Amino acid sequence: ILELKQVVKSFGSLTAVNHIDLKIKRGEKVVIVGPSGSGKSTLLRTMNFLETIDSGEILFEKEPCGYVTRGDKLVLDSQKKLCALRSEIGMVFQQFNLFPHMTVLQNVMEGQVTVLKKSKAEAKDTAYKMLDKVGLPDRSDVYPVTLSGGQKQRVAIARALAMQPKMMLFDEPTSALDPELVGEVFDTIRSLANEGMTMVIVTHNMGFAREVADTVIFMEQGDFIAKGTPDEFFSSKVLHPRISEFLDKLL
Ligand code: ATP
Ligand code: MG
Repeated sequence: ILELKQVVKSFGSLTAVNHIDLKIKRGEKVVIVGPSGSGKSTLLRTMNFLETIDSGEILFEKEPCGYVTRGDKLVLDSQKKLCALRSEIGMVFQQFNLFPHMTVLQNVMEGQVTVLKKSKAEAKDTAYKMLDKVGLPDRSDVYPVTLSGGQKQRVAIARALAMQPKMMLFDEPTSALDPELVGEVFDTIRSLANEGMTMVIVTHNMGFAREVADTVIFMEQGDFIAKGTPDEFFSSKVLHPRISEFLDKLL
């Protein structure tokens, strides 16, 4: 569904994403782990065109997209096309980024009305369905400030799902949460995974990685150091010394 070819992203002299090749199949669950600053968020953001790339190519459903070449530079394609693309790839961040001045329902309706140009009635209908899906059917009329972190994150997931994305990106979706609230958010992501949603998840939760991932990737200094099934990844045979060290620190 999504393919990255030789994607490079630098900030000044720092190469945050270094010639990354990655193919994500429809329905595949990819978990990316790695130390702080290794480029995980930057890589995720390039997949959603929130971050422009310096070179390389991004194909969505086999179509090269997001960029046009101008001279020797890659520039982002027109705003219109990008919006369409972004709505096909949903993203959930560590900080929930809900609109504080809107109710839960309005938060989940907003993108549908402004980006997808749906009628209010239709948007509302979808919003209720999505809130139901994330287990918050009775919280539609409250403001985000009254919700727990876990509930906020589930609203953020409902909001992303309301755009009917073909794939979802999660950037450390539980790392801003109190430990007792992590489970409910992972339950929501897990049920989405079971429905066949294609997803890329950056997380430090190895239990979740092991359980949900088809592919686990270890990233360090902008590179993929290892990539494999959870069994391959966690079996000590293939564990790179840096990965063992990383995993040991997490425990
Ligand atoms: P963490 O686990 O802490 O979230 P990460 O793996 O997500 O880390 P990134 O946020 O992708 O890492 O950052 C990769 C590198 O790029 C870091 O060295 C970071 O300082 C740098 N970087 C990220 N965004 C920018 C930016 N907008 N401007 C300059 N440097 C940046
Ligand atoms: Mg990050």
